[in-house]
Amino acid sequence: MKLLIKNGHVIDPANGIDEVTNIFVENGVISEVGVDNDLDGLDIEIIDASGKIVAPGLVDMHVHLREPGQEYKEDIETGTRAAVCGGVTSVACMPNTDPVCDNETVVTYIKKRAEEVGYANVFPVGAISKGLEGKLLAEIGEMAFAGAVAVSDDGRPVENSGMMRRAIEYAKMFDVIVISHCEDPALGEGDMNEGAVATAMGLRGISPAAEEVMAARDILVAEAIGGRVHIAHISTRGTVELIREAKKRGVKVTCETCPHYFALTEEACMGFNTNAKMNPPLRTADDVAAIKEGLADGTIDCIVTDHAPHHPDEKQCEFGYAKNGIVGLETSLGLGIKCLVKEGVLTMSQLIEKMAVNPAHILGIAKGSLAVGQAADITIFDPEKPWTVDITKLHSKGKNSPYDGFELFGKPEYVIVNGEVIVNQFELMR
Ligand SMILES: [Zn+2]
Ligand SMILES: [Zn+2]
Repeated sequence: MKLLIKNGHVIDPANGIDEVTNIFVENGVISEVGVDNDLDGLDIEIIDASGKIVAPGLVDMHVHLREPGQEYKEDIETGTRAAVCGGVTSVACMPNTDPVCDNETVVTYIKKRAEEVGYANVFPVGAISKGLEGKLLAEIGEMAFAGAVAVSDDGRPVENSGMMRRAIEYAKMFDVIVISHCEDPALGEGDMNEGAVATAMGLRGISPAAEEVMAARDILVAEAIGGRVHIAHISTRGTVELIREAKKRGVKVTCETCPHYFALTEEACMGFNTNAKMNPPLRTADDVAAIKEGLADGTIDCIVTDHAPHHPDEKQCEFGYAKNGIVGLETSLGLGIKCLVKEGVLTMSQLIEKMAVNPAHILGIAKGSLAVGQAADITIFDPEKPWTVDITKLHSKGKNSPYDGFELFGKPEYVIVNGEVIVNQFELMR
């Protein structure tokens, strides 16, 4: 199996490459970069990438695949298909499944299932506490040996500061990262961001402090013990500032945001649009500006989707009863190009750093690079080519996206996972 990707604009920030060149793939592995054009010959599949960007496959370190137990929302097959259609070749999947991924058996099950039916590489995240109950620490070492790359109680905060401290200590011993869903539940009871829009709609507001109080605590705990912590889905100016200051002091804190926190504001909830309901909630225009500043100055390391598929019945209901979260795998690259690259917030190379290089680095996985010898995970797209989001055509089982009808750019045209060209197979099926 030989594949030549010709004349593409290769952007590989991990190796300092940003030029038009060719990539040669043999037996699923990148075997040469900058190879001659005249390799054309028998038994070589050729992709003409002229005018397109050739990037490392994107790495999304915050995804809910819902399997085991909630396959009516999504499963590993459909979730990873949605991923590759969005240019994402590796995902880290959160443990709030049923049963909870809090032991080596579930970690092993997810890995095995992903090998059988998955289109993207799947890296399980184990729970911090047994059953996500916040009472007893899960077997972090066992899960790490079984292949968990991180631990998190995502969906819920770790309320007990002592437990967070022990989780960071154990995670350090087993070389995995703690991902913290920051939310002080006593401040977080509500349906959308606290403020004028919530008041006008008669909905309960969630204070930005719900996120910031917990982010501050996690930073201080990590600082006190010299451990690492990764703050999930940051949404407020205050959290950006806390992390910026902590990084200046040398605290080992990293963080992520999601496209909805730079593409949308709380006003998207108007009309009781449940596809704009999430946790943390959409914030104000000032928060959006702060998120963009944090992305531009390096405070925010990663862009992740927090892909959270739900059944229509869980969204087509009263706002207060609707589940939190949206699907995101198929729109994240397009939103990054539209709201960040085209607006001059990030260069294309910086966007790829935040969507591939940095998450791989934080998780400690050999992804996000087009170096010779790496598994050939490659995403090819034309950032000038517009496309329109049609939620009925999403590959995810979840259609809960607020972006229906949005014009985005750069829909992936070829996505290659371990040397196999995946995406245009699905496009041909349509
Ligand atoms: Zn979360
Ligand atoms: Zn999540």
